[in-house]
Order: sequence, then C-alpha cells, then structure tokens
Amino acid sequence: MHISSAATLLLRDGRIADSNNKLGELFGCHSETLRGLPFQQLFLHLDDKAQMLPESEELPRNLVAQRPDQSTFQSEVMLKRLDDHHELAEIRDISRQKAMEAKLEQLAQTDPLTGALNRRAFAERFAQEQSLARLQQQPMCLAVLDLDHFKQVNDTFGHGAGDEVLVQFSALFRQLVRNRDVFARFGGEEFLLLLPDCSPTEAIGLLNRLRSALQEQALNGLPPDHRLTFSAGVAACLPLQPLDEVLKATDAALYRAKRNGRNRIEEADYQVS
Ligand code: GH3
Ligand code: MG
Ligand code: MG
Repeated sequence: MHISSAATLLLRDGRIADSNNKLGELFGCHSETLRGLPFQQLFLHLDDKAQMLPESEELPRNLVAQRPDQSTFQSEVMLKRLDDHHELAEIRDISRQKAMEAKLEQLAQTDPLTGALNRRAFAERFAQEQSLARLQQQPMCLAVLDLDHFKQVNDTFGHGAGDEVLVQFSALFRQLVRNRDVFARFGGEEFLLLLPDCSPTEAIGLLNRLRSALQEQALNGLPPDHRLTFSAGVAACLPLQPLDEVLKATDAALYRAKRNGRNRIEEADYQVS
C-alpha cells in the first residue's frame, strides 16, 4: 500500500493535468474535478503562478490553500520544472504543524499558572514598545504590582487558594487594562504592567482604578468579606533606559508604597528629562 502525505500534481502550461487521489482528499472533492484548473486557483491571494517561481523550485513555500467550498488550510508547496510546458507540484497540509507551533510559541511566552506573559516575553514587548514610544515621541510608564500580605492568604486559606487567587487577579487585570498595555507575571505575587502612550499621572489614575476594582471583587477561595489589595510602584520609562534600570526605579517606589501602609501607588522620584 502506498501512503503519501502530499498531493502530487502534474501541471501542463500552469493547469492541473493529473494528480494522485490525495489532492481530492486535501481539497474535499474528487481529484478529477480539479483537472484543467489553473494551479494558482488552489491558493488564496496567489494571482500569478510566476510569484511562486523560481525560489519554490528549491524551497518549499507556505501558502494558504482554498478548497472549492471556500474553507482554507495552511499548505506547503513545492514546484519543479520538468520542461517548458510541464511542472511537478507537491502540496502538503501543514495546518496541524502550524497549530502546534503556535501553541508552543504561546507556552514559551506565558506563565503556566496565570496565563499572563512571562518575564522573557515581557522583556521583548518592552523593547518593542520602547522603540515605538521613541519614534512616536509618546510617554510610557512601567508599574510593578505586589499583592499585599499574600503570605497570609497562603497561611490562612492554603496554597491552593493562593494559586486560585493569583489566577483570578491576573484574569481581572487583563480584562481591565487597555489592549495595548502589557501585563506580565514577574514572579511569585508580583506583576508588571507596561503602559504605552501613558503619562505618570495617567498611569497613577489607571492603577488607582485597578486598586478600587480589586477591592470590590470577591474572590473564589477566600471568604466573601476578605478583600485583596496590592501596592505598586510606577515610573516613566525614559527613551533609551534599559529595562533593569526602570525596574530598579519602580521597585524603590513599590518599597515606599509598602512602607507607607500598602494598598497604595507611589511614583519613582527621578525626574523625566
Ligand atoms: P507584602 O505585603 O509585604 O508584600 O507581604 P507578602 O506576604 O505579600 O510578601 P512576601 O514577599 O513576604 O510573600 C509573598 C508570598 O507569595 C510568599 C509566597 O509563599 C507566595 N507566593 C509566591 N508565589 C506563589 C504562587 O505561585 N502560589 C502561591 N499560592 N503563593 C505564592
Ligand atoms: Mg512580593
Ligand atoms: Mg506581597
């Protein structure tokens, strides 16, 4: 028995002259019904087969294939010229591989407990947003948030309840911040919030709104009257300032927020030039 994962096609003057049955399988029809069709009609946004040559003679090319019923799949395509009129083509369905790659990419970027971005992904986003802020001459702020008396939550209600609280905290914040804001778990019960196009005054306003929202929220795993609070330090990010320097400034401000009674926001005390 011959099992091939690829549809193999013979093209004559750019049209499908012959193929194996796998072509019909991939495109949800009988292979014969595709005979005579221009090859490029199997793909989305491919108006001219010449676009595929010559690089795809050597390299497989990723294209979005479109079935007669208009549904699509990710495909890998190879073309080999046989003579002036004939080419051999191979089409493979790589949608499962692509989905797996996307899943792995997402796993590599997120914290497994809360689904928030992890530190590494945050550092990448910070660099991107800092360049954009520089180009667009917009202010940008970074805040570090630390849950207050979180050890007590674990000690009183158990580590499992503590975990559940971290998950809910993270979900609530991701829902409340703006689309472009970047929310990440820095470690333990500390989170980072990057606020592009945001002045320190606006950042403090936003953080205070988040503080109120958290205080109003009953959390699963805690008694209904138990309210969780956080403290935060916020700093403006200067155009070329490295992340660890901004973090030092936000940490110092966070420390002040804790010392001044918790459940409050403090701003870093360096001047924005
Ligand atoms: P403070 O108000 O000064 O921040 O007090 P705190 O108790 O929150 O601070 P501390 O740094 O002393 O304790 C942080 C606690 O967070 C200790 C640790 O057990 C808990 N923690 C860190 N990561 C996790 C986690 O993934 N799950 C749970 N359940 N607890 C965690
Ligand atoms: Mg902490
Ligand atoms: Mg804490």
